[in-house]
Amino acid sequence: MTDAIVRELRAVLGPDQVLASPADRVTYSYDATYLSHLPDVVVFPASTEQVRHVLAVARAHRVPVFPRGSGTGLSGGSVPLGGIALVMTRMNRILEIDRDNMLARVQAGVITAHLQETVRAQGLFYPPDPGSARISTIGGNVAENAGGPRSFHYGTTGRYVLGLEVVLADGTVLKTGGMTTKNVTGYDLTSLFVGSEGTLGIVTEVTLRLLPPPPPARGTLVASFADLTALGRAIGALAAHPARPTSLEMVDRHCLAVVEAHRPPDIPPGVAGALLCEVLDWPEALAGRLRALEEVCRGVGAVAVSGLADAGAQRRIWAMREALSPAVARIKPTKISEDATVPIAAIPAFLADLEEIRQRWRVNLLVFGHAGDGNLHPNIICDERDADEMSRVQAAIDDIFAACLARGGTLSGEHGIGLLKRRYMPKALPPETLDVMRRLKALFDPDNLLNPGKVFPDGAVEEPLAGRPVTGPTATPRVAAEPHDKGDSANQQPLGGRTA
Ligand SMILES: Cc1cc2nc3c(=O)[nH]c(=O)nc-3n(C[C@H](O)[C@H](O)[C@H](O)COP(=O)(O)OP(=O)(O)OC[C@H]3O[C@@H](n4cnc5c(N)ncnc54)[C@H](O)[C@@H]3O)c2cc1C
Repeated sequence: MTDAIVRELRAVLGPDQVLASPADRVTYSYDATYLSHLPDVVVFPASTEQVRHVLAVARAHRVPVFPRGSGTGLSGGSVPLGGIALVMTRMNRILEIDRDNMLARVQAGVITAHLQETVRAQGLFYPPDPGSARISTIGGNVAENAGGPRSFHYGTTGRYVLGLEVVLADGTVLKTGGMTTKNVTGYDLTSLFVGSEGTLGIVTEVTLRLLPPPPPARGTLVASFADLTALGRAIGALAAHPARPTSLEMVDRHCLAVVEAHRPPDIPPGVAGALLCEVLDWPEALAGRLRALEEVCRGVGAVAVSGLADAGAQRRIWAMREALSPAVARIKPTKISEDATVPIAAIPAFLADLEEIRQRWRVNLLVFGHAGDGNLHPNIICDERDADEMSRVQAAIDDIFAACLARGGTLSGEHGIGLLKRRYMPKALPPETLDVMRRLKALFDPDNLLNPGKVFPDGAVEEPLAGRPVTGPTATPRVAAEPHDKGDSANQQPLGGRTA
């Protein structure tokens, strides 16, 4: 990045909104994966107009722009490949809560939990509940169509997005959707931007639908299974039952082993896995509904089932689930969290595939996830400094996605493609579908300025998976990518690091 470009950015934003020291660039070089790459400069626009100014500088100098919320993404989506890291966290105002129309208008940098708490205080409810809600931004949630445990009942972020304000690469400020929950006025551009991972435009403002709060009584169903086939059957049976729970999560035996110290008495030792379900209902209905769901689990072969209404007993279950991520992180330094999603009837077979892959490649693979959505998180715990282990991890991940696709599944249920999964895109989508996506990208961003190198599998270099962080200083200006028909030049520079 030349000093001249940094000076221009400082002139349009103000000096405290443009950082270019090595320490600052490192701070914005990674997300929640193990990937990292230095941006040349980091900018913090505070308004839609300032986002436009940044894009004008980027266009003039053909420098790529990498939108970023809080950097909690799990697919490398906000890892900057040089260029400008455009951090949205200063656009963090809740602009309006419209009680009468049950909607909120927020800037894209609002932290998800801040919105949840603010609307709750007004007797309203914003359902999407990614595990990262205390840190992630609404803009990042929209860009990844984030889900969470309650997506099983309430759906993912996209279901709540009524309208967007988006700055396009050419500086156009586009308004999509509106304030209504039904809207068939022309093409659904709002949905096009949901899940587009910062590749089509910078989301600056979001209009979100709100709901009334859920019923106040909370119950938890815990069901344990001696084999994964029975557990898989239970997922289908619970999902199809009229009493179906609000969330339907699973943990396999490898997860249970990691949190053995927190194992509640409701889960016997030695089981193959357990389902953890949240049930929200009216107090007078809760016990009956829990009983119905217990019956469902027993009917498909659960070895132990508890329907818990007692707050303390429930806390023990969810404390065990919350202990899982930190406990896993202590095993080895690298955690690769995949996001494979299959149709729910395929879950038993897919779980068997995963166990076989674990053994075939001798990797520490454990599975938890939003089972009711078929959205499993096969996690591989490894050490990226160990080349032999990482080559087996790479092979295991290839096999996980091959199995997932063979079972009718998809690459991502909620984390997006980013850098980590773009290599699998040609396997997941027919060429015509991928081609239409490329043409849409070229229409919105003809010079490939916005988040180049993400989602699409173009580029001569190998993917940065399996122990190859996208590291390294970028002393030279990262010139914006070539137009699409010449390929994705952000990928022309080796992504660096170690090979698997
Ligand atoms: C502990 C933990 C738990 C998690 N749990 C869940 C979960 O339950 N469900 C789930 O879905 N995800 C989960 N995630 C993943 C992650 O939190 C989500 O993907 C989240 O939506 C990312 O938000 P962010 O603000 O951190 O975005 P970032 O990581 O900064 O960016 C994510 C993507 O969005 C783009 N982007 C960000 N802001 C904008 C914008 N304003 N305009 C255009 N593009 C933009 C970026 O370019 C990038 O492609 C979890 C992550 C962690 C670390």
